[in-house]
Amino acid sequence: MSEIIKPKRKIIKSSSVMNEYMTDYFLDLDESARTGKKKVAWCTSVGPAELLHSLGFAVHYPENHGAMLGASRMATDLIPIATKEGYSPDICSYLTSDIGSYISGNTPLTRAFGIKQIPKPDVLIFDTNQCRDVQDWMEWYARRLNVPIFGIYAAKYPDVISDTHIKHLAVQTEELIEPLEKISGNKFDIDKLREILKLSRECTELWGQVLDTAKAIPSPLTFFDGTIQMGPAVVLRGTQRAVDYYQLLLNELNQRIADGVGAIENEKYRLYWDGMPIWGRLRANSELFSNLNASVIASTYCNSWIFSSFDEKDPFYSMAKAYLEIFIVRSEESKVKYIENMIERFKIDGVLYHDSKTCPANSNCRYGMNKRIEKTTGIPSLVINGDLNDMRCVSDEQMKTNVEAFIEQLEENK
Ligand code: SF4
Repeated sequence: MSEIIKPKRKIIKSSSVMNEYMTDYFLDLDESARTGKKKVAWCTSVGPAELLHSLGFAVHYPENHGAMLGASRMATDLIPIATKEGYSPDICSYLTSDIGSYISGNTPLTRAFGIKQIPKPDVLIFDTNQCRDVQDWMEWYARRLNVPIFGIYAAKYPDVISDTHIKHLAVQTEELIEPLEKISGNKFDIDKLREILKLSRECTELWGQVLDTAKAIPSPLTFFDGTIQMGPAVVLRGTQRAVDYYQLLLNELNQRIADGVGAIENEKYRLYWDGMPIWGRLRANSELFSNLNASVIASTYCNSWIFSSFDEKDPFYSMAKAYLEIFIVRSEESKVKYIENMIERFKIDGVLYHDSKTCPANSNCRYGMNKRIEKTTGIPSLVINGDLNDMRCVSDEQMKTNVEAFIEQLEENK
């Protein structure tokens, strides 16, 4: 089929502002760890970051570091270091590459920001809402660095999220106040938490509006752009800067819509991506699809950082609700409904399911969901075998052949 000729993606101008804000975030984190200016908490990406900020912690997100290891293509070489420690290459490759990074002292933070080592934690916090691996991951650091660790244990795979589920999580979050006050040296202030929660909601709702611009035809945004643009929603939520950034980005994308400008030059097919990104192939995959006139415009992954349920009037209950509603922890039935809705909302022609070797928690095509959704919607799908960080599990040739055949199938269906 068609030869790769040249990239047809468009650059997002607002990104320079995002890069400045992200740089400031990492430098502050590094300074906090080096000087003790602020205590440092490590927190899983959908853990109670707002509570940590309200107590004055600088917050590091190990999964964000894992994604940087993947995107910088450092991960594959670091995974065997964790394997030597007894961590199987089949478990989460964020975990294994991050542990390998720590042991070897190699971090992408050095090249990107001049930071010599991963900022050391004063406390480790995890929430099992997404998977068990985050617990094992933080426990490795707790043993290695002799640092206190606290966990929040979420209900698994609920169809309907009940009051009992939410209260169970809210109580556990509230119980963290006392030990975290001792570690931070700061007194808990509910008004501070309310303020941060409000900013977090505003940030992630604006992020939701950014992602919704992809409903336009042509879409001004791709999934591949989204994986980079989601940085502030992950690490800066709860700050005014994150709110300001997404307003800026939204304005730029709305202008593209007004001008009829798409993220790729000739959008002919609109695709949905389910599952983890393949971090080490973001650019290659972006070019593969855009050169076939296919725009991957929406995803489960990027939409996972929209927390509309945050309510400053009832901070602990609403935080628990928001962190329990995330796609990854829900029942198969809820997931099916969610993806069916996304297919309709974004006028999707085909669905891509990334079966990520080391992340069963976020590979949603292993129990027939893809076939069931094909039946109910009539929209074809393709399973992509790969991995989020371990490029030994990725075959570029196979991916190219399968994607080209899939696009041909879509062409025949038009
Ligand atoms: S959800 Fe997947 S990628 Fe994320 S921490 Fe768990 S196993 Fe790793």
